[in-house]
Amino acid sequence: MRAPSPAKTLLLLWGIAAVVLAGGLLLARQERQVRTERDRTPLRAFATTAQGQLQRLEDLYQDHLVRLGREVVPDPQRAGRMADEITGILQISLLHPTTSGVQDTHIPVNASPDGPVPLPAFATAPGLTSGSLVLLDESRLFNRDSGWVDEPGKPLLFHVRRSSSEVAVIAVSRSLVADSITGWLRAWAEKSFAPVRVTGGPDQLRAEGRVLAGAGEAAAADPPDLLMPLRSRFGSYDLASWDLRRTLVRYHPAALAVTATLAIVIGVLGFIVFLAQRRAHAIAAARVSFVNRVSHELRTPLTNILLNIDLATELAEDDPQESTRRLDLVRLEARRLGRLIENVLTFSRAEDGRTEARITTTACVPADIVTAVIEQFLPGFQRGGLTIARTDENTAAPCLCDPDALAQILGNLLSNVEKYAPHGTVSIATTHAGGELSIRVTDEGPGIPREAAERIFHPFERIHSHIHEGATGTGLGLAIARDLATRLGGTLALLPTATGRGSCFELRVPAPPAPSPASASSIAPPA
Ligand code: ADP
Repeated sequence: MRAPSPAKTLLLLWGIAAVVLAGGLLLARQERQVRTERDRTPLRAFATTAQGQLQRLEDLYQDHLVRLGREVVPDPQRAGRMADEITGILQISLLHPTTSGVQDTHIPVNASPDGPVPLPAFATAPGLTSGSLVLLDESRLFNRDSGWVDEPGKPLLFHVRRSSSEVAVIAVSRSLVADSITGWLRAWAEKSFAPVRVTGGPDQLRAEGRVLAGAGEAAAADPPDLLMPLRSRFGSYDLASWDLRRTLVRYHPAALAVTATLAIVIGVLGFIVFLAQRRAHAIAAARVSFVNRVSHELRTPLTNILLNIDLATELAEDDPQESTRRLDLVRLEARRLGRLIENVLTFSRAEDGRTEARITTTACVPADIVTAVIEQFLPGFQRGGLTIARTDENTAAPCLCDPDALAQILGNLLSNVEKYAPHGTVSIATTHAGGELSIRVTDEGPGIPREAAERIFHPFERIHSHIHEGATGTGLGLAIARDLATRLGGTLALLPTATGRGSCFELRVPAPPAPSPASASSIAPPA
């Protein structure tokens, strides 16, 4: 299974941090409702006016009923026409006392929305069974000019005394009258509710719970803080009012601190993992590229060696001079191959932590080491037209150092000169003074940009890292050279050049003078 990319890991962990933060904010959030009582003077004034209007409508309706009761005639057609002018009339009955009810007249006017209207009759009428009749108290109806019979279980009736022997009983539909009143009230409230709206609400004028006029946003779920019922025979009206509510939000500081800390820790952790993963990816990529480079580097000298051996063999008899030149080239390439293999081995030993064992200090003459290394490069330098300017100061006396490590460092520096600065002059200045050996290699090549000055000493780092870009290489030479210099107790640094062109590498290692054989034998223990 492939490991997720560093960016994906970072996004994932930062996503988790964000979720933790969001969750924490939710947990830390505390809400409190604050209720503020309102000034309801305009609402109370409106309630009084609305109640007055309802009463006025009822009185008006009652007047119509009284007139109808008085003027109605037993003729159904004429009575119907008269009743049609008034809302909600279902039936008109003309009742007579002390008779068996046979003289009573019942005129149906409208169908009732609540089912058939029972016929009214006096309870004292002989021979009647209550069945589908509404029985009325005769004395009560004759005692008053007019009035309502509004009793549970009976339809809504209005009675008008027409004479000492006849009463008109009008059945009224409560719901039809209520619809009419509600419609009127809605139209009236549209204008009249205005002063209440000014105070902002939430306030509502309601009929049977339905809103006729309102102001402000009432929280539907909350019961009203003030309910003012408006009296009406026909329907249920009221004014509902709510206090102002504000939600105060605060966050619990401890929960918030814990969440924020957790989110920050996860965020930072994510970043650390991201960096580590990116490094691991880069190392893995560098290793792959390293293997590619080494293979590439090995192939070039090998091809050259095979080619030149073939040519040298062919020319051995006809052109011995050219054949020798070809064999010299074979030697050159073989050395290049040797250096490369040496570098790769040194690097893998260093990876294993075994290089330290390879540093072996012996008595050696610095000038001889430099000469031997230069000799390896001489043919290559000459072919490129590179001149060597060599200076030596006090380098002929033997000193204590590791000659192989010195040769490998100088070899790597000169190999770079051969690859990157093959024209002009390379100066090699060797100085041995005060128990320290310094070798300075200065070329006239393109030089090294300041920003890459430290980077080039890291393994696999190259200025042109693409395999087909610039001279080939593994990016190991300088890293190994610096590592060896450090293990010798010295330094390898890139110095600024006097001209500002080319590059200058300086190696400084401790190299105490080697004891002369005579003094060595004087301190040597007897055999
Ligand atoms: P390699 O030569 O195999 O690439 P090195 O570690 O020897 O690896 O060098 C690292 C990089 O430093 C090289 O790729 C090159 O870009 C740069 N470099 C080293 N020496 C020189 C030089 N004398 N002149 C210019 N660039 C150099």
